[in-house]
Amino acid sequence: MEAGAKPKISGARLCCSCNQRRAALKRPKTLEQICRECFYEVFEEEIHQVIVENQLFKPGERIAIGASGGKDSTVLAYVLSELNRRHNYGLDLFLLSVDEGITGYRDDSLETVKRNELQYGLPLKIVSYKDLYGWTMDEIVKMIGLKNNCTFCGVFRRQALDRGAALLKVDKVATGHNADDIAETVLLNILRGDIARLGRCTSITTGEDGPIPRCKPFKYTYEKEIISTYAYFKKLDYFSTECIYSPNAYRGFAREFIKDLERIRPRAILDIIKSGENFRIATSTKMPEQGTCERCGYISSQKWCKACVLLEGLNRGLPKLGIGRSRGLNSDVKKDHLENVMELGELVFINFGQGLSIMAVIYERCGKGLLFEFGAHRITGEGSVTRGQHLPVRYLVFASASIPPMASSAPPDSAITGQNSRKSLGFLANAKKHKHSFIQFAAMTGILLLSIRSLGQKYRIHDLQEDTAALKQEQASLTERINYIKRGLRHEASLDPTGVFASRIRLLFGEDN
Ligand code: SF4
Repeated sequence: MEAGAKPKISGARLCCSCNQRRAALKRPKTLEQICRECFYEVFEEEIHQVIVENQLFKPGERIAIGASGGKDSTVLAYVLSELNRRHNYGLDLFLLSVDEGITGYRDDSLETVKRNELQYGLPLKIVSYKDLYGWTMDEIVKMIGLKNNCTFCGVFRRQALDRGAALLKVDKVATGHNADDIAETVLLNILRGDIARLGRCTSITTGEDGPIPRCKPFKYTYEKEIISTYAYFKKLDYFSTECIYSPNAYRGFAREFIKDLERIRPRAILDIIKSGENFRIATSTKMPEQGTCERCGYISSQKWCKACVLLEGLNRGLPKLGIGRSRGLNSDVKKDHLENVMELGELVFINFGQGLSIMAVIYERCGKGLLFEFGAHRITGEGSVTRGQHLPVRYLVFASASIPPMASSAPPDSAITGQNSRKSLGFLANAKKHKHSFIQFAAMTGILLLSIRSLGQKYRIHDLQEDTAALKQEQASLTERINYIKRGLRHEASLDPTGVFASRIRLLFGEDN
């Protein structure tokens, strides 16, 4: 074994499989002491069994291996091409990569895939977000920041893989999802209450009702066995850097939790998968109906698929449009005209019925619609929104905080008459009695505060625009001065007959080859 190898060699113990060679490692999955040769054999044999028992492939099929250059997909490409040869699967294998356009990450990992193409003799196809959607992840992150970037990336990648697979005319896509990934996804779907995904996340083959199914030959293979053992001992060429936009903290917690469980009880990963497999969805649970996107024709349970909604948001400069649960998103699409005319910061009337309407401001667009603010309150419930005089639209109003008082249908309290009765009224009773006046007063105060705020914002924007213009002018004048100095130095250098000065100047200006 090489010096510095990660897996521990256990003294003079013999391999528990062949009983002849020295054990070289402890299998993370079973904790058996085993030699390297036997490990390769059982590792590959287990994957072969999974493929055979689940009938993942048929002879003559064209299979695309989703290749990111990472450890899982590299090992998958290597093992599948080995098994294909050894067991005569009769498959035509291809590498399929998605270029998200992440400088410093994907460009480097794609170099690894290109080397894998030569090492394993598998043809490679790369599809890019830029070509498919007109946006790179670098550009998307520039627009939306690091909060929801993985939502965009995940949705776009899913479609990109399918589109690449269609271009390759393959029958199936094999992905490198391993047992740890699947256990993590089971947990996440439980935590999110996502019944639809929980029902299908443990399936070894998915999308059989769609154009190109996907399968996971590593469904029962532990991540540790793939990376720190198999890939390491086989010295496979893979890329191990994390994505620079990887803030997925929620998934990170689930991953840590699974790792902790694995330390205590290695079987925990398989048990979580088994639990996921045995979930039964009640027949009364309403599942989304699959159809096709009206815009691009991709599989979708909504009018527009998620990628089209996200893309629409990006192209319209409203990237938050597609974030959140998809029900509201497609409502947004239906209310497209409304979205087009309503602006953030705009004042509208929300009509709660029974003669009560308040003036509120649109403070955010979310995946479910518009969010309204009334003074310090966020508003919930369903009401109609009137914009100006001519645009009454029924609209859902969502909220995250307290609810403002609604109109009451109770008649005015005519029973309370006389001074004594009036004296006995407390603050709350008075407030109840005059609630319409209270609401109007609060509304007027809210409107006043909001107007002051938006006026302040207007002035700040104006100041910033002035500052930007001044900075641009300063930049132009500095560039001019630099060019002037350069010209002077070049002239001086041309007078030096030795040419040394001129060569130094070229070096200094980065013009020397
Ligand atoms: Fe895309 Fe997020 Fe993964 Fe990076 S971490 S590749 S942004 S999904």
